[in-house]
Amino acid sequence: MTSPVRVRFAPSPTGKLHIGGARTAIYNWAFARSHQGTFILRIDDTDPTRSTKENTEIILRALRWLGLDWDEGPDAGGDFGPYAQAERLDIYQKTAQRLLEEGHAYPCFCTQEMLAQDREEAKARKDPNQGYQKRCRHLTHDEAQRRMEAGEPYTLRIKVPENRGDIIIDDAVHGRVVFDAHEVDDFVILRSNGTPTYNFATVVDDAAMQISHVIRGDDHLSNTPRQVMVYEALGAPTPIFAHISMILGADGKKLSKRHGATSVEEYRDAGYVSDAFVNYLALLGWSLDGETTIIPRDVLASRFSLDRISKNPATFDPKKLDWMNAEYISAMDDSRFADEILLPELVEAGFVEVGDEFDESWIDALASIVKPRTKFLGDAAPIAEPVFQHADTLVFDERSVAKGLAPEGMGKVLDAAEEVLSHLKNTDWNPETIDAALETLPEALDMKKRQVFQAVRVAICGNLVSPPLGQTMALIGSKDCLARLKRARGLAG
Ligand code: GLU
Repeated sequence: MTSPVRVRFAPSPTGKLHIGGARTAIYNWAFARSHQGTFILRIDDTDPTRSTKENTEIILRALRWLGLDWDEGPDAGGDFGPYAQAERLDIYQKTAQRLLEEGHAYPCFCTQEMLAQDREEAKARKDPNQGYQKRCRHLTHDEAQRRMEAGEPYTLRIKVPENRGDIIIDDAVHGRVVFDAHEVDDFVILRSNGTPTYNFATVVDDAAMQISHVIRGDDHLSNTPRQVMVYEALGAPTPIFAHISMILGADGKKLSKRHGATSVEEYRDAGYVSDAFVNYLALLGWSLDGETTIIPRDVLASRFSLDRISKNPATFDPKKLDWMNAEYISAMDDSRFADEILLPELVEAGFVEVGDEFDESWIDALASIVKPRTKFLGDAAPIAEPVFQHADTLVFDERSVAKGLAPEGMGKVLDAAEEVLSHLKNTDWNPETIDAALETLPEALDMKKRQVFQAVRVAICGNLVSPPLGQTMALIGSKDCLARLKRARGLAG
């Protein structure tokens, strides 16, 4: 029987959730979901100077916005908690103590100065091992004991076995990676103040939480041989490692602030749809079949596999993300667009209030004209705005007035439009009858169709870029449309 899939995303709350972290979280989540596994969120907050509660909250909020639900972790609980490292200090200390007792770790009393001097000397003689020179490894048990009891400060170091040989990692992305054991010195696992180092805390937790696969950024590949040493000292099985490539900006450099927005929140606030954002990030280094680009969340959650992760760095392309965002919006049906985008945006803009009741077909009709023009969530309310104005509150765009209303003869157009439209009874007030009525005007007035429609459009919507006229006017209603035509008469040439 193969062991169940248990994976974790382990952010350090030293900042916001960035694109790279979000992609790591997505891969872990998608891998767990695709393999009926468990997705664990663990907060790696052992660095008290840089970790904050606010950052943890921001990260949780970002993960929720991404729709990455975790099975175990903060708020969710689970059998392997606590899920914040700052709450697990006693576990690290007890485990380090156990390794000390079993002879897999030893106390080191070297001062910073001694360590620096050893390093300098190793450098000067071009020693292949420029790490810790193992001074304290050879202290007798009694001496070490005596100095610890005398209260001398000490760290605990792992004892890398003599003749360990190469450390081989069969990485699910990079394949076989061989590290010379000499590169791994007897590194510190517990500092003199009792806090664990990253390589120790991570492995203690990954072992205790029975993590089966460690999927993380390949900036951690170089830490992995050290971590393997800890697994071996603990007598715990090593998980499968999958180190995912870096994300680069268009200039081939590691993605950073210089390339624009990097935090998930900034994308949320800029009006990206969570599903589109997740889809786009998933494709930064992974592919379903090498060609499919639109991969809905449920497909990602059933078909994600490690063997289709690329070793090569991925390039972040904001244009492709924008394209994908627009694709997701246009693929929504009108009711979903109305519920998930339009109404929340209208509430946000103050055009409607939570709890306002709308006729379903009316709101769907509005959605159908707003949706094709919406590339980002924030576009929706301004596009719909004219519908929520009234004849007396409508704001006119100056340039549109100058172009569409002010030229000579436009007053005549508005009069004629009012005349033909006033004949439409309320029951006949629909996009087809409105358009048909307006269609008669160019010939009757001997004017260009474009001019006629522009004038009416500016009178009704205040600008030249609004959605199709008949549909918009049907939504506004006959009474207010006629009042708008009257009001605009004062601006028309
Ligand atoms: N807290 C570490 C980080 O944010 C986790 C690395 C790991 O996944 O082991 O980089």
